[in-house]
Amino acid sequence: MKCIKCSGKAAIKTEKPFCKEHFIEYFEDKVVNTIEKYSLISKKDKIAVAASGGKDSTALLHIINRYFGNVTAIAIDEGIPGYRDKTLEDLNKFCDEQNIPLKIYSYEREFGFKLQDAVKEKNIVPCRSCGILRRYLLNKMSSSFTKIATGHNMDDELQSFLMNMMNSNIELMARGGPVTGVIKNPGFTPRIKPLIFCTEKEVAAYSLLKGFDIKFTECPNAKESFRAKVRDLLNELEAKNPGIKRKLIKRYMGMLPALKEKYREKISEIRECLKCGHPSENDVCAACRTVEMIRA
Ligand code: SF4
Repeated sequence: MKCIKCSGKAAIKTEKPFCKEHFIEYFEDKVVNTIEKYSLISKKDKIAVAASGGKDSTALLHIINRYFGNVTAIAIDEGIPGYRDKTLEDLNKFCDEQNIPLKIYSYEREFGFKLQDAVKEKNIVPCRSCGILRRYLLNKMSSSFTKIATGHNMDDELQSFLMNMMNSNIELMARGGPVTGVIKNPGFTPRIKPLIFCTEKEVAAYSLLKGFDIKFTECPNAKESFRAKVRDLLNELEAKNPGIKRKLIKRYMGMLPALKEKYREKISEIRECLKCGHPSENDVCAACRTVEMIRA
């Protein structure tokens, strides 16, 4: 197989075959074009990247640092021994090498417990609670930044889209896209997803070809999650119908402006959480309710 750009030996075939050098160029161009097309980053922005030490956020951190600069990595240590401690080691090393400031916040310090202890002792559904607490902390800790960039790739976005569709949660579906959410609120740091049009396979290939020193491990709680089942379903569909993921993301992006418009009015009623002052649609925000439930 030959690279479609230079006819050299192809190192990778995702949508098209590329040699190492041209795949890296193709991937970085795609991310930078997404940032430009959707005006995700401007010169004035001070960007925080939600980093975990995994392939997606490491690739994103590298590209934003290289093309835009003024970036800080913010990491959340949920307290998942044998997993997060290892990925944070990689992240520490990466940020050191690339001279990127890194700030790490933990559930233990902020909420008083480790996620894995809560999973064992309180029998909670890990990803549901973890997702709520993670989003809350990232938002809280990024308040001095103008944007927070997350490493969600196309597969992540499609999984969320299908999960919300299956749960009839159209309101959550409206929050997707390259810029998360439907409204602006001074209490929320705007979230951007520059990797949204890159497949998981492309991000993995980029990280490997760039030689990032990261472990391709999975959180021990991920296997049993609904998301993992949807991921397997999507991969099976793609294997039998090549190109279906790209068609789906295109359809979803086509629907998004109307969806956001429809839910904008409904979500504009944002109050302050009575417990922590965080913006919330309810009297007490989801994070405070989750912490209370775990501590009970
Ligand atoms: Fe948290 Fe679930 Fe992700 Fe593990 S897989 S880090 S529990 S959201």
